[in-house]
Amino acid sequence: MPSATVLRASRLIDGTGAPPVDGGAVVIIDGVVAAAGAVRDLDLPTGTHVATYEYPDCTLLPGLIDCHTHLLFSASDHALDDAIHDSDETLLLRGVAHAQAELRCGVTTLRDCGGRGFLTLALRDAISRGLITGPRILAAGMPITTTGGHLNFCGLEADGTLEVIKATRRLCKAGVDFIKVMATGGGMTPGTNPRAPQYTVEELAAIVAEARRLGGRHVAAHCHATAGIANAVEAGVRTIEHCSWLDPVEGHAFDPRLVERMVEKGVYVTLTMGSERAALKSADQLADWQQHAVAGYGPHFDLLRRTIQGGVRFIAASDAGVSRTFFDEYPLTLEVMVAFLDIPPMQALCATTGRAAEALGIAHLVGALVPGRRGDAVVVEGDPLADIRAMRRVRSVFRDGRLVVDQGLLA
Ligand SMILES: [Zn+2]
Repeated sequence: MPSATVLRASRLIDGTGAPPVDGGAVVIIDGVVAAAGAVRDLDLPTGTHVATYEYPDCTLLPGLIDCHTHLLFSASDHALDDAIHDSDETLLLRGVAHAQAELRCGVTTLRDCGGRGFLTLALRDAISRGLITGPRILAAGMPITTTGGHLNFCGLEADGTLEVIKATRRLCKAGVDFIKVMATGGGMTPGTNPRAPQYTVEELAAIVAEARRLGGRHVAAHCHATAGIANAVEAGVRTIEHCSWLDPVEGHAFDPRLVERMVEKGVYVTLTMGSERAALKSADQLADWQQHAVAGYGPHFDLLRRTIQGGVRFIAASDAGVSRTFFDEYPLTLEVMVAFLDIPPMQALCATTGRAAEALGIAHLVGALVPGRRGDAVVVEGDPLADIRAMRRVRSVFRDGRLVVDQGLLA
């Protein structure tokens, strides 16, 4: 007899953007959603093989998707030193703890955007084989970067078209799920320039073509400089990470025509609300450098708002792992989107469920509580549409219909 799980709650948000359903339920059979909707419209299974969970005064949503993490990074004030000097064993154990911290926040799928070597692939496989409990992981392995470029210590430097094609082949051979490329320098790596591109359009296009040829993998491009965003968009990457609109010299350089181009090309912007989460915290929770950063966030938030208003599709992410961007604070990502980017709560929720799955090419599997998708769900107390802070109050998390987090603890 098939095993069935029935989840009932005061409210169901299915992740597709459809209005919430009062008195909702989801039926999961053998790990897959068989039915979802209003209780009165469903024929709920009964019997000894059915596990029924009831959640009055709660909202039932699809398991969340964090579209950008670094599971092997420590999130400490010296995250760079840790990433360079810690042993592989330490990195991997840290990755387990971090993956489980995300799961406790309701994140049942995450995309890891780069770490040292191929350790995240081992972590991904250990979870998918059931050796340890954790979210599904889409792993990039090592990001492709230039010699001395952003996150070069992860281990994959490549310069010129031939070398980036070879790097892409090496990653695909190892079994990565997508390709992460550093299209500009980054703040975490001294000696790189976040205000300048690292690769040309031709180099990036070669990566996109090779990733597509070898199994239809998508490419995520880390972009702070406006010139780097332009290169990545022209090259045909799927997602632009950060999208910081940095001018080559100082301040910002917003380009409305590039926003139009992003819409035309169907690019997604990954809103990595990581360090930005500091904007929600009180001064005594922040390090000195964060207080300075928060004071300067105005233009950054303004340009992301204009990017979104221009019609660019956006998805939600934490960038957890970089300094002071912790894995157990995922709900704050959604709060920043609502509070500082003027995104309505339903849109923020879609950006971490249905639309995130679509962007990452996994909409056949996850992202919505509709028949045929995996039975991944999160239950929170209250109504996140009325107050997005409800996402902090996670009651239960399910993966493939199985209870994996109960009252904030791994089940
Ligand atoms: Zn990152």
